This record gives sequence, structure tokens and C-alpha cells, in this order.
Amino acid sequence: MKQFHTQDDLKIYLKTSGGTIGFVPTMGALHAGHLALIETAKEQCDLVVCSIFVNPTQFNDPTDFEKYPKTLTSDLHLLTEMGCDVVYTPEVGDLYPTGMANLPHYPLGRLEELLEGAHRPGHFQGVCVVVDRLLQAVKPDNLYMGQKDFQQIAVVRRMLEITDSQVQLIACPTVREASGLALSSRNTRLSAEQKNQALAIYQGFNSPSAAAFEAKLIASGFDSVDYVACCDPLTLENKPWGERPCQLLVAAFIGGVRLIDNQYLP
Ligand code: AMP
Repeated sequence: MKQFHTQDDLKIYLKTSGGTIGFVPTMGALHAGHLALIETAKEQCDLVVCSIFVNPTQFNDPTDFEKYPKTLTSDLHLLTEMGCDVVYTPEVGDLYPTGMANLPHYPLGRLEELLEGAHRPGHFQGVCVVVDRLLQAVKPDNLYMGQKDFQQIAVVRRMLEITDSQVQLIACPTVREASGLALSSRNTRLSAEQKNQALAIYQGFNSPSAAAFEAKLIASGFDSVDYVACCDPLTLENKPWGERPCQLLVAAFIGGVRLIDNQYLP
């Protein structure tokens, strides 16, 4: 596996590579969810590029940014084992050469006001900036992202429209532990007991109401709930609980760690 620290070196290498490129952007602390994206990219493309970059502009909470897990050595091992061809591991200055003020603004409309948008101001603008810049550097045919971050997929799809991009966005299913808990890099910050309590998210998807779901989360040990919502899967606008088809989405804190998950009900 080739490793590049700068976009300049990455671009020079990719120019000579030929064939289709599949791209998997990540923030590292890789788990089987990330590796499933790499595997799908390998099946569908000639060359797979993964980026590992904890993007400061998408963190609205400084503590979350500081405590974000970093496991680069083991990440590089896992990517090599998976047969990933190229990894790009930039410093902040390589993606933000003129600093992090006065960044471009993407007109995301309602997507930025709903759910995560309401609770994490600026988060999706930061996601758009970094993904847009990464796409400029990698110039992939396909972009692979996980449905675990359901709203992020909708936002990036919108960003691709705004920028008139030809990149194909491939949304991949959420990988879960056998227990049902969605894999997340942030899970490493939870104790064994908290991980067990966090199962209430997965188990709550069959709740009879949003209020019952929230009550179950709190009773199970969650500190607070940002939202439990039943939404239109395309627009993410709220709809009455239980009306099908719908996407159930949840964000809640346990042990100071914010977890998100979602489930499609046909
Ligand atoms: P992150 O490193 O958290 O920014 O995630 C990088 C990519 O992996 C994003 O497209 C995520 O949606 C995806 N991802 C994270 N967790 C999972 C999971 N449990 N299953 C599938 N994809 C995931």
C-alpha cells in the first residue's frame, strides 16, 4: 500500500495509475464498518484510495475533537490486510492551506436545519468542505460512504449536485456487532457496561412512539437524547411515528459520548 501525506504527491501518483478509482474517506480508528466500504470499493473499482483525516471543521464540540480516537498504526495494518492500494494521511495544513476561516459555503437548505443540522451547527458545512477538497485531490469515479451516517449521505449527495460533480456516491449498509450495536469509532470510548446499555438504541427502533423510545434510552442509562425522529427517507422531514415507509433516526449521549444510528422501516 502506498501512503501519501500531501495532495501534491497523491495527485502525481494517481495521474499515472489508470483504471477506475474508488474512494473511502474516513477519520481513522478503523473498524469493520470502514473495512466493508473498502471491500465494496475493491469489488467495483480498479484502485482503492482511503483517506484518514480527523477533520477539525466538522467538529462543533472541541472535547469531541480532542477525544476522537487515533489508532494510525493499526489502521495502516488493517488497510494493508484489506488490500487497499493507497492511503492519504494529510496534516491539517495540506487540506486547509489558507487556514480554516472564510471557507466556502454550500447551500444545503433544509438538510442543514434538520436533525444533526439542528444539533451540530456548522457540522455539515465542515463535512462538505473536506469531502469536496478530498474529491478534488483524488478525483475518484466512485465515493463510498456508510448509511450509519444517514443524513451525511443526503448532504454529500446535495454537495455533489451543487458542485456539478460526476462522482457516483455509493451508500453502503450499516455494519453492526452481533448484538445490534452499530460499529462506531466512538464506541471505543465506552465501557463494557455502557456498550451494553447502548443496545437500547437498536432495540428501541420497534418502540410504539418517539416518547417511549426516548424513555427507554434514559431508563437504560443514556444521559440525554438529542432527537428520536421518524422521517421521510428522502427529504428527512418529520412524519407521524409509525407511518411507513420511514427512516427512524436517533442521536443520544451515553457516558459523554454522542452516538447516532438509524433504521429504515419499509
Ligand atoms: P468516520 O470515520 O466515522 O468519518 O466514517 C467514515 C465512513 O465510514 C463514513 O462514510 C461512515 O458512514 C462509514 N461508517 C462508519 N461506521 C460505519 C458502520 N458501522 N457501518 C458502515 N459504515 C460506517
